[in-house]
Amino acid sequence: MHIEKNISLKPYNTFGVEAKASFFTQIENIPQLQQALDFATEHKLPVLALGGGSNILFTRDFDGLAVLLRMKGITETFVDDNHVLVTASAGENWHQFVSSCVEKNYGGLENLSLIPGNAGTAPMQNIGAYGTEIKDAFAHCKVLNTETRELETFTLEDCCFGYRDSFFKKHKGKYIILEVTFRLTTHNHHLNTEYGVIRSELAKMNITEPTIQDIAKAVISIRQSKLPDPKVTGNAGSFFKNPVIPATQFEGLKSKYPDIPGYMQHDAIKIPAGWLIEHSGWKGKQIGNVATHAHQALVIINATGNATGREIYDFSGQIIDTVRYLYGIQLEREVNII
Ligand SMILES: Cc1cc2nc3c(=O)[nH]c(=O)nc-3n(C[C@H](O)[C@H](O)[C@H](O)COP(=O)(O)OP(=O)(O)OC[C@H]3O[C@@H](n4cnc5c(N)ncnc54)[C@H](O)[C@@H]3O)c2cc1C
Repeated sequence: MHIEKNISLKPYNTFGVEAKASFFTQIENIPQLQQALDFATEHKLPVLALGGGSNILFTRDFDGLAVLLRMKGITETFVDDNHVLVTASAGENWHQFVSSCVEKNYGGLENLSLIPGNAGTAPMQNIGAYGTEIKDAFAHCKVLNTETRELETFTLEDCCFGYRDSFFKKHKGKYIILEVTFRLTTHNHHLNTEYGVIRSELAKMNITEPTIQDIAKAVISIRQSKLPDPKVTGNAGSFFKNPVIPATQFEGLKSKYPDIPGYMQHDAIKIPAGWLIEHSGWKGKQIGNVATHAHQALVIINATGNATGREIYDFSGQIIDTVRYLYGIQLEREVNII
């Protein structure tokens, strides 16, 4: 294990903002991770796990040990005539992992194609897209408890997955996820085409009886047309969570703004944050180096490539203020702020 000092984290966050870690190391296995944690304990340093850096905003330098997780490996075990357990190590690229499952005709993750980041980070916010969340195919994950240094296994119930939420997100820093196991189907797939955009994309592709490969292709095509590529324009995907409000509050808003969309979520209503931001006049708006994406107001971008994390954070604060003022709704940041 090699520890470097005063390292730029710009290559390790998809916003492409400058921030330095006072200490930095790259980890390829558990013994190296244990050594890194020993170093941090010895020098009384906080530890920051880093995956693909696609859901993080550095607003300052990190005065601690940043640990880039690069453990690789995918294994599989057939459990019955229609299910396989597939395990990905934390450092596997999420999209490559999903693609390898889709290629082998293992179903369950195809709607989550092309989400950036690492497999090990997927449980952090129960990543989701187009009507599917990882909880739908999740079996268990292996983690290192950074306080006790013990290895633990978390089942689906233990993870307490919610909308962009999990036990790990509520206990940030306490656990490092080492590998994640999914229970996927081998032939009787349950296809999820409930999202209208997927159905219309399949129709465009002239597909009436889709396979999981078709769904993956449709999702990739939709995402490529709507979302900015972080390799070209710095961003971290959706900056805010979609707010969930009581039905009575929604009714009040509906009488004032008849077009406001809302989706039933148990006994409350989920409102697309993108709609609120767009109808607050923020779509495509740029202040200094920061803007919202022209096609998707929910995505904040490093428009010039020269934005600082602080500028992006302050920009997001202005959006929060406007939406609260106009709609009485408090937006919550989805991105992890450092
Ligand atoms: C263009 C774009 C589109 C996106 N679309 C979606 C989408 O559709 N749905 C969605 O849910 N998300 C989406 N995201 C957000 C992001 O891709 C996911 O949240 C992804 O899981 C983040 O993974 P990462 O490895 O890049 O995490 P990082 O940014 O490296 O880390 C995120 C947080 O997790 C912690 N962490 C990282 N690895 C570990 C680990 N192994 N154990 C414990 N903690 C860890 C970090 O300390 C940090 O707090 C999008 C992002 C972009 C840029």
